[in-house]
Amino acid sequence: MWLMLVLHFVVSSVDAQDVMFGQNKYIEYQVGNMSLILTVPHGGSITPNTIPSRDAGCYDKVTKMCIYTHNCPSGSVKDSTNCKATTVKDLYTMETALSLSKEISRLTGGYCPHVIINHLSRSKLDPNRDKDEAAFGIPEAEQAWDDFMNFIGLAKSQMSTGLLIDIHGQAHPEQWIELGYLISMSNLDSGKFSAADSSIYSLSKQLTDISFDTLLRGSRSLGKFIEEQNGKYICVPSPTNPAPNGGNYFSGGYIVSTHGSKLKGQVDAIQIELPRWIRESTERPRFSIALAKALLNFYDIKLGN
Ligand SMILES: [Zn+2]
Repeated sequence: MWLMLVLHFVVSSVDAQDVMFGQNKYIEYQVGNMSLILTVPHGGSITPNTIPSRDAGCYDKVTKMCIYTHNCPSGSVKDSTNCKATTVKDLYTMETALSLSKEISRLTGGYCPHVIINHLSRSKLDPNRDKDEAAFGIPEAEQAWDDFMNFIGLAKSQMSTGLLIDIHGQAHPEQWIELGYLISMSNLDSGKFSAADSSIYSLSKQLTDISFDTLLRGSRSLGKFIEEQNGKYICVPSPTNPAPNGGNYFSGGYIVSTHGSKLKGQVDAIQIELPRWIRESTERPRFSIALAKALLNFYDIKLGN
């Protein structure tokens, strides 16, 4: 029986992974063959001078709206308080995604997740924002944004159910791992939320015998599966920290809200925000093994196309 399983993996695995690129190689797509997608929107460092740097949007005092462009329309002015554009890089997130991909491949006998990487500096493009704020109306950046989203769509089209993990870094003093499901900090604290509000709505509908609270932060949650690998990897939400309880926390951004299962479809999504000590080369290999195992325990990831 064991021999048959081994043979099956050998025959089904691919030898070399296909890689696709968007325009100017700003966006890279490592084509996978399992129902798992890893996205890295903020780990890039290319700064082409053909794309003006993202700074602040223009604030219109009458409509109280931000217009993300470099030439403010009349009646609006650049406003770095009301219309701030975040440009900080999430250091080592690309390295973390690639290390995680390698470990998942090792654990599954050669199958690969889909990996989508933005190589542009966040000062030029932020794919975790809607198109206007992401690209400031610059066609070259808008094309890269389209490439990033189209590659996610292409990856999703190869699976029925699946999971997208959007990988980020944060510098919060708690130094914990923040798992974002689109449930806000205050709603986690108060307990006022439902599965339909979340980016794992599809998964919750499949697991009808498990309460959403158990799936989000209890014995069946990703936080629990990560923490059981190593007690140093404190997660929120999880059984140890069911809510941020006044601490710093990111609940998820454009990518998980657009490409998770809150709005439609059967691909779930979770934003994972890592503290720096976990992304550093000293911890990264150990953490990649832990997260790979936790993801395979948490989700029924399908191998093969
Ligand atoms: Zn980020």
